[in-house]
Amino acid sequence: MDCIFCKIASKEISTSLVYEDDQVVAFRDNDPQAPTHILIIPREHISTINEFNDSHSGLISHMMLTATQIARELDIADDGYRLVWNCNLKGGQAVFHIHLHLLGGREMKWPPG
Ligand code: C5P
Repeated sequence: MDCIFCKIASKEISTSLVYEDDQVVAFRDNDPQAPTHILIIPREHISTINEFNDSHSGLISHMMLTATQIARELDIADDGYRLVWNCNLKGGQAVFHIHLHLLGGREMKWPPG
């Protein structure tokens, strides 16, 4: 499968790594939309969050906890930050390997574009 995020997870493509463990990899977005913009991805290839089912509950929890831990470590937790899952084309998803965006370091607007 020709998936850019699978290649990042397997280190076939190098990236600015922030965190990794047996389930997830976190790295800096290469086109950051905020001073801090991290992507948290699972090692497992899942195309969209529409594929989530009960078997993914541990992974989903782990991704969220990883994001909040990174926010604390990068010192954006107290000021505030945003977590985003984009789903499918109209949801703004461009890479079809699920990823959780962690954005911080600036004031966020609402509603998002
Ligand atoms: O949610 P969406 O699919 O639009 O986000 C994909 C994100 O992956 C973008 O923010 C893009 O900058 C990032 N990206 C990256 N490195 C790549 C390809 C995409 O950080 N090699």
